[in-house]
Order: sequence, then structure tokens, then C-alpha cells
Amino acid sequence: MSPTTVPMRLAAPEASWTIETDVVILGSGAAGLSAALAARPMREVVLVTKDTLAAGSTHWAQGGLAAVLDPADSLENHVRDTLAAGAGLCDEDAVRALVTEAPTAIRYLMRLGASFDEGAHDELALTREGGHSHRRIVHAGGDQSGAEVQRTLDESVRLAGVTVVERAFGLDLIVGTTADGRRTAAGVRVAMLDASGGVESVGEILARAVVVATGGYGQVYASTSNPPAVTGDGIALALRAGVEATDLEFIQFHPTVLWCGPEARGQQALISEAVRGEGAFLIDAAGRRVMEGVHPQADLAPRDVVATAISKRMSEAPAGVDDHVYLDARAIERIEERFPTITAKCREAGIDPARELIPVAPAAHYVCGGVAATLDGTTSLPGFFVVGEAAATGVHGANRLASNSLTEGIVAGTRLGRALSWNLPEAPTRRETDPAPAALIDSYHRAALRSAMSRWVGVLRTPVGLGNAGRILDTLARNASARVVPTRQAFEATNMLTIAAAVVESARVRSESRGCHRRTDADGPLEEWTCHLTVRLESGDIVVARGERAVESRVESPDGAVLP
Ligand SMILES: Cc1cc2nc3c(=O)[nH]c(=O)nc-3n(C[C@H](O)[C@H](O)[C@H](O)COP(=O)(O)OP(=O)(O)OC[C@H]3O[C@@H](n4cnc5c(N)ncnc54)[C@H](O)[C@@H]3O)c2cc1C
Repeated sequence: MSPTTVPMRLAAPEASWTIETDVVILGSGAAGLSAALAARPMREVVLVTKDTLAAGSTHWAQGGLAAVLDPADSLENHVRDTLAAGAGLCDEDAVRALVTEAPTAIRYLMRLGASFDEGAHDELALTREGGHSHRRIVHAGGDQSGAEVQRTLDESVRLAGVTVVERAFGLDLIVGTTADGRRTAAGVRVAMLDASGGVESVGEILARAVVVATGGYGQVYASTSNPPAVTGDGIALALRAGVEATDLEFIQFHPTVLWCGPEARGQQALISEAVRGEGAFLIDAAGRRVMEGVHPQADLAPRDVVATAISKRMSEAPAGVDDHVYLDARAIERIEERFPTITAKCREAGIDPARELIPVAPAAHYVCGGVAATLDGTTSLPGFFVVGEAAATGVHGANRLASNSLTEGIVAGTRLGRALSWNLPEAPTRRETDPAPAALIDSYHRAALRSAMSRWVGVLRTPVGLGNAGRILDTLARNASARVVPTRQAFEATNMLTIAAAVVESARVRSESRGCHRRTDADGPLEEWTCHLTVRLESGDIVVARGERAVESRVESPDGAVLP
């Protein structure tokens, strides 16, 4: 099958204004705000975000932030749990750095004014989620952890004097060359949007450092826990600028989003793992436990294990039901106090979780891959940095351990911001000319794209299904044209096409099952696939190649056994 060809530049009106600054950041979730805050004392920082400040995933996070704070727990335990979830593709150094800095990140947020839930003795209350061997998840307002992080960072960034520009869409990178001829980021082309997504003007923000913190790409699926803004823009922008992405096939499907009927589309309410952490369990429509005998951690097994078990059980159609199972949370005392948002969402759907079973199904939730970057945000292109869910730092490998991502966004954003406040990359002396031809696909193609991804590239993938998805995306790509009216929706549709095509091609090439990539034609991981897949764009063609071989992560457990 030939690769899908996608636009190399987003079509938009000519730039009519220019701003110069030290650092420009795209995205206002945990990662972008942390980077802005850390860079600001020394630098002029412009933070542009395509919607309002809280439109990304950060605001929606429920469970909380993972960090070792209980003396009975240890950093080594957290490292081991993260490596086990990552299924052989984590970068152990990055994992160790994250785990070591996570407790400081929590204390830092508290110094900024975040209020986390406390337990009996005025200590932080810690809960447990899938794949964690100890209670180490800090939470706020029961299940409003992300909203508290977003509120704290929003206020801090404004107080620090960061220039915040809302409804500003990052389109494409501006690239230049330094005096000694090296390629470097020079700024970003930005479209100012009106309330309905129309373009008011286009401008250029020139900066010594360009930071992408635009989150993941859950919205390429019809069924997702992600809000509408999460469309993979920053990763598509990086690919068009010649920067490699990696591990894009590893998409974590949350096992339990509220099932609202076969026709439900778009963002769907999450029923956090923390509900299972407090004792809820999964049963099928015939009343049989789903996770019994599947994994030693049963309902608290890693997400890929739970999502796969649910998908397999649904395919058996117990009691004739093939599109959802149930979560029994009836034994949780005062569920409306511990999980107020979840209880409210269930009640909106006509379910009382204190007395009734909650219908749930897996949905796209978190992307482990992204632009290849270090935990400090550095990429292969000088002056161009990527942090948060848009980055693949090696922390998550083939599967993310629950609640490691907010912590990662704060740690990586802060490390990058601090580095930029010490040192700015060399300024370019010349701009790259000869821009690629620009095009867009119309936003109404989004529905077909999302359906194809949910139907053929979900929890369980088959070679035939991936081929079908590829052909549908190919057809959509042939509609790309410079005449499509430029709007936020068309920019997003074009980025989603690029990302979806890259995911399908990566999933097709990786002919094994590992972490959250499951192929029905391969039972498990294969030794020869203990490597990353890299994705780049060549004249608009998606090119997937075997990247660097991952160093097999091995760590001693306290009882002396060596764990993968
Ligand atoms: C329902 C839900 C529950 C979750 N629960 C947890 C949890 O309990 N613990 C945990 O650790 N993680 C959780 N996650 C994952 C976690 O929330 C995300 O991984 C994390 O918040 C990502 O942060 P970020 O800063 O990278 O991106 P985001 O918070 O997604 O922010 C991305 C930002 O980029 C902006 N943007 C996007 N494209 C452009 C563009 N072209 N131009 C300008 N701006 C742009 C967006 O508007 C947004 O402001 C959850 C996610 C969801 C959806």
C-alpha cells in the first residue's frame, strides 16, 4: 500500500503582522503553562493558545498526579511500575528523572497555591490507580485534580506577566539558518480566530525558542475522553517542519468511559480508574466479573490489559450485549463526595452510581507517542522544543502508567523553562525561503476520519482493518486543496489527517502486540520489535522506519527478582 500524501503547509492568508519575543509557546495545558512560568523571570514569553486557556486535557484530568510521598513507598517502586507498564520501550533514565522530580513538582504546585485533598492526619490523601503497586496519586476536589492544576497555573502565569494570547492557532513553524548554516526554528505562523473559528488575521511570532505544548490527538477517534481542542496540531506541525515523531501507534484506550449509546460521538465522560481504586469492579451484561483470572492485579491491572479484556468480552456478546460492560461502584461509601464530577455525569445520563451499574466501554484517552524529545523538551531541530503529551520522551514507552502524565507535563515544562531562562538558542541569520505548497481538507471530512479510526484502529487491530483505514484516509487526502476556506476546523481536520495516517502506517508496520498496541494476528511482544518506530514526512508522504533499538529496561525488585 502506498503511503497517504498529506499537505506540507496549512493554507492560510498572507501574514499581515509580526511580533518578536524571546520564547513563544503553543498551548496552555500543564506543560505549556509550566514552561512559561519557569522561563518568564528572565525572558519575554508569549503564550498562544487556540481556544480559552483551559480548553486542553489538563482541565479534565480526574484521578490526579503520581508522586512518591508515602514513606512506605519508594522511588524504586514508582520506577519499576512505570517500566513494567511501558513494556520494554521506556527510556529508564527519563523515567528515573521524572520519578525523582515528581514529589518536588507536587510541592511546587502547592507553593503556587494548589489545594490537594488531605487524609486523616492533615497529610496529602493518596489513592491508587491501575499498574501502581502503592497508593501514590495526589488528587484535588475528589475527581477535579486537573481543574485545580489548570487554575493554579493559569493564575500564576498571569501574575508572572506572561503575554497570553487566546484564540490564536499555531499553523506552521518558521525555519531559518544560523550564521554557520545550521537549520533552526525561527518562529511560528499564527492565525487569529473569531468566536466561530474563522480567520481574522495571520501573523508571525519570531522567537529564539519555539515551544510546542499542544497535547495529544484523542480527537482523531470518534469515541474519546479528550476535549475538542486535542487534535494533534503540534505533532503535525513538527512533521511538516522535518522533525521526527515516534511511537505514534501506542494510543492508550481508557477502559472505562461512560457508555452513552451506540450513536454517541466526541468527548465522553471518563469514569476514573480511581473509582476501581476505591473498590469498584467490572462485570459483563451476564453478571460475570471481567477481570477475574486475567491479571494478578484484577480490576487494577494496567489500562491496556483492562481495555483488551473488555474488548474481548464485548466481542463475545454476553447476554447479547457487544458494545459495553458495567462498572459496579455500589459498595463505595458516599460516592457523591469522593467522586462529585463522575456522580454528576452519571446522573446527567440517568444513572445513580450509588444504586445502579454504570455502563462503560473503552475510548481513546492518551497518546504515548509524539515528537521525539528529551524530558527537557529538546528535539532534533535547534530552537524547537516539545513538552507534555505532544512529546515522546521515553517516559511512557509502549504504555503510560496512570497519572504519570500531568506530573510529566509539569516536570518537563519546568525543566525546559528553566533551561531557556539560563540560555536561549542561537538566533537565525536567514529565513528558509521557498515554502512548500499549501492546502487544507474540508472540516466535514472529520466525521469519516474519526469513524474509520474508531472502527479499524481501536483497541484490537487487524491487518485488514488497518488496510481499510489506510484506504479511507487516502481518499480523504485526495480532497486536499488550496481553495478550501481556511478556518480552525479545516486546520484541525488537515492536522488530524496527517496524524491519523501516521498512526495507521505505524500500526500496520508494527506486527506484534505490545503495551497499548494490540494486533489480533500477534499474541504478544516479539524480541525483534523491541525498538521504536519513527515517522517523518517526505514531500508529504508518511515514511515509517525502525528507529533506535530500545535498551531493554531491567530493574531489580526489592525481593531480588529482575523485572522487565
Ligand atoms: C478526561 C481525562 C482525564 C485525565 N486524567 C488524568 C489524570 O488523572 N492524571 C494524569 O496524569 N493525566 C490525566 N489525563 C491526561 C492528562 O490530562 C494530559 O496528558 C495532560 O493534561 C496533557 O497536558 P498538556 O499540557 O501536554 O496538553 P493539554 O492540557 O491537552 O493542552 C494542550 C493545549 O494546546 C492548545 N493547542 C492545541 N493545538 C493548538 C494550536 N494549533 N495552536 C495553539 N494552541 C493549541 C490547546 O488548546 C490546549 O491549551 C487525563 C486526560 C483526560 C482527557
